[in-house]
Amino acid sequence: MITVTINGREIQTEAGKTVIEVALANGIYIPHFCWHPALSVSGNCRMCLVEVEKLPKQVIACSTNCTDGMVVHVDSEKAVRAREAVMEFILINHPLDCPICDEAGDCKLQEYAYRFSRGESRFDEEKNHKRKRVDLGPHVVFDAERCISCSRCIRFCSEIIKDPQLTFVERGDRVTIETFPGEKLDNPYSMNVIDLCPVGALTSKEFRFKARAWDMSRTETVCPDCARGCNIVAWVRKNEILKLTPRENPRVNQYWMCDRGRLESFQRVHADDRLDGAMFRRHGSLERVEWATAFAAAADELKKRKGSEVAFIGSARATVEDNFLLAKFAHDILSSTLVDFLPHVIEGDEDDFLVRADKAPNTAGALLVGVGSSGHEMKDRIVDGIARGQIKALVVMDDDIAADPSFAAVLDKLEFLLVMASHDTATVGSAHMVFSSATWAEKLGTFVNFERHIQLLRPAVATAENKRWMGGLSQSRLDRFGTAYDRWGKYSEHDARPSWQILTGLARSLGAKWSYAHPEDVFEAAAKEVGDLYGMTYEKIGRRGIRLGLPVEEPAFIYDDIHP
Ligand code: SF4
Ligand code: SF4
Repeated sequence: MITVTINGREIQTEAGKTVIEVALANGIYIPHFCWHPALSVSGNCRMCLVEVEKLPKQVIACSTNCTDGMVVHVDSEKAVRAREAVMEFILINHPLDCPICDEAGDCKLQEYAYRFSRGESRFDEEKNHKRKRVDLGPHVVFDAERCISCSRCIRFCSEIIKDPQLTFVERGDRVTIETFPGEKLDNPYSMNVIDLCPVGALTSKEFRFKARAWDMSRTETVCPDCARGCNIVAWVRKNEILKLTPRENPRVNQYWMCDRGRLESFQRVHADDRLDGAMFRRHGSLERVEWATAFAAAADELKKRKGSEVAFIGSARATVEDNFLLAKFAHDILSSTLVDFLPHVIEGDEDDFLVRADKAPNTAGALLVGVGSSGHEMKDRIVDGIARGQIKALVVMDDDIAADPSFAAVLDKLEFLLVMASHDTATVGSAHMVFSSATWAEKLGTFVNFERHIQLLRPAVATAENKRWMGGLSQSRLDRFGTAYDRWGKYSEHDARPSWQILTGLARSLGAKWSYAHPEDVFEAAAKEVGDLYGMTYEKIGRRGIRLGLPVEEPAFIYDDIHP
């Protein structure tokens, strides 16, 4: 260990670390554009200049290693003046685009212009003009005038994706980035360069000009599109998710997410085929009824068939809480052991970075709470039981089982098919009774990823129900469950309930004394009954989750959380 002094504070650190790493890890902010903890050091923006005693001039903190006894001044007169000069230089050719730039309100350069620049320019010449709308690839547009040549996007492609699709061309004030001739910025992770870009030079084709940063709420949640469970932020305006961006979690997705998860998962939340309310089938078509009426009618049907006459299909796309209550409902109320879920593995559709072949976010969680087994032998027994007429009723939670040919062939043999679903699917088309369920974006609950990392899913979009149970929470619990609630206002998108709540309603109609009023109540029960979850709480899971069975190791610092 060595000792360095930064801004008067003596800090013990390992040899070999740079000044910026040690400062940031110890809560001392050094402004920077090109440095990023996941990328190599390029040292080209010069924004991290600091003063080091006994050195003749300022040095860049990103490429200066700490040495024993080193004394660093981040906020000395010389360091501040040096950074002001860098800002003035960078802003010479930067366009005054903020009013029309997607990045405004969430832009490092804009923030630094307020915090670390002189507040005026001595440059009254014509600014350098460059191309404004360069089509770099299927998802990314480049504005060359806004680029500050930090090379983060170039290093991301060559170092993280290992596919050098971008490079600098030209020199001096003409320098710009380009793809190689005839090539595109086209890879499964291409949109991460948009988040990495410290200015608005790289923007998303899908999001361009849709909303200003300050008009959107940000909810920290988890991607539902594969077993990785990347940590994300859902950006919402008027109860509609407009974009997803990755959220740093060193143990799950580092700083990144894939383009498919970024674009597809939220579009389904707002699709036209969303269902509303409770329905049962009369004269061949589904009719909407009151929830209470539907619960009573479903209870009457289920009462007629107990034990091996009733089977249950849970879902690796539903939460731990949903699956836990489904298994409990089957075992405790209808004395059935016929419980399983459908796998969603697409063999070969994975890589050695983030994307997993298992396209469901909670396979491990469903298994953990006793919904089926990894071999899914029970699923085959259920199909066989329906075909032989032994199983007369089936309860399906949050999955389109009719997409599985073996189920599609036998569903019409059932006397009673109860489906909890968020969208109109082929399974809904065969159902006798349907309860509209909430999507991942409307729920509070937990997913367990393929590495047994349990994480909190938080509601980003308002429904009448999640507003009701979030509204009953204290401010401290609300803070724990995300920041969007206070901006939900009058919005309430769908008459949909999370499946744990639908199951609670059904259980009560069947005489059970279930009193779960909030997903945390369900999780507390699961943490008492499921060995692997023993002692777990939402509070312990926190913002970045816990690896089940392993001691909690806090990272040195979370880069996302460091602000000037
Ligand atoms: S486009 Fe953005 S990330 Fe890429 S070099 Fe320019 S400023 Fe840096
Ligand atoms: S890798 Fe998986 S979890 Fe991560 S963003 Fe892509 S689909 Fe979502």
